[in-house]
Amino acid sequence: MDNSLRAKLFSSGKQTPYYFYDLELLQNTLSLAKEQADKRGFHVHYALKANCNERVLTKIQQEGFGADCVSGNEVLKALDKGFPASKITFAGVGKSDHEIQIALKNNIFAFNVESAQELEVIAHWAKAANRIARISLRINPNVDAKTHKYITTGLDDNKFGLPAIEIDKAVETLRANKHLEFIGLHFHIGSQITDLEVFKNLALKANQWRAWFEEQGLEVKVLNMGGGLGVSYEDPDLNPIVDFQEYFSIFDKYLERPNRQEVHFELGRSMVAQCGSLVTKVLYVKDNGTRKFVIVDAGMTELLRPALYQAFHKIEKLQSSTEETQFKYDVVGPICESSDSFGEQVELGEVERGDLLVIRSAGAYGEVMASNYNLREELRFVYNDTIES
Ligand SMILES: *Cc1c(COP(=O)(O)O)cnc(C)c1O
Repeated sequence: MDNSLRAKLFSSGKQTPYYFYDLELLQNTLSLAKEQADKRGFHVHYALKANCNERVLTKIQQEGFGADCVSGNEVLKALDKGFPASKITFAGVGKSDHEIQIALKNNIFAFNVESAQELEVIAHWAKAANRIARISLRINPNVDAKTHKYITTGLDDNKFGLPAIEIDKAVETLRANKHLEFIGLHFHIGSQITDLEVFKNLALKANQWRAWFEEQGLEVKVLNMGGGLGVSYEDPDLNPIVDFQEYFSIFDKYLERPNRQEVHFELGRSMVAQCGSLVTKVLYVKDNGTRKFVIVDAGMTELLRPALYQAFHKIEKLQSSTEETQFKYDVVGPICESSDSFGEQVELGEVERGDLLVIRSAGAYGEVMASNYNLREELRFVYNDTIES
């Protein structure tokens, strides 16, 4: 976040707390992701669950990405925003009958299926609607994503993916049912993955699975590698855009495509995390003798990630100078929960009542997880093109 932006936000006097979105940074991020994917003929479906903000979503749709949805309402949202049905996928362990019907009615590109029973239910509704459901099977490749355990999804003891012992049954159902069309394989092993070696391991596992399915006589047309690319929460200014080039080139190098299989991705966090910040005002500063607390007007109700999975977000004074003496503060929200904390022992220049703090990298899994617990007020938003200087 550059100094002119900080100055504008500082003088705008907007009521806090609010989410600030830098749509210019978003645009630059999307352009780079698109360029690097297009170059290799890869297709990216944006994971709506990371951020469904109207303006953010509009930009992503305009840039030509597909949509990866995890609920019927996300499917409807994507359609409403203008994402073509042919570029919408529907994933998730617990698709309800109603949600499956919505997806069938709108003839979306594919279902990412996570159990043999789900496959039978989709077949049932596809027959009833006289549709053909395109199916990708979500394989659990048992690759360690080396990320927080709450956002690891590709290990054998996670709830996600088709269990190995159900695969034969799923293959049998696919073969027997003319309302199901097998199109390929889906993998998604977790989120906030920063060790890129993990993606190499995933590609190598995917090669084995593709070969196995082909041995069964099932043609794999699409290889969907999911999302999970991590961002720098530690230094968003140094790394505002992730290295899409390196990420895609790993798959380009290691993922075999003997029949020129299509390669799909479902990126969420890496597209939107850095363009969002949560701006909050200091209500009180108190010192209990051993700790200094900064109590701000935003809480876990606006940004749940720290409370939910001890996520780290960089916290800064909106305006500060490098010469300031640094103090250590626990930055906490007003909600009546001890987990309502944004960071412990955060180093900041001296903080006073009325100061503005910025919680960085809040564009992914921020706004979408907000609640009105404690009857909190509706979220507020500021965009780079709606602040007056
Ligand atoms: C959440 C999710 C994604 C997006 O993950 P990111 O880490 O935000 O890139 C992609 N695919 C599936 C199936 C998901 O559940």
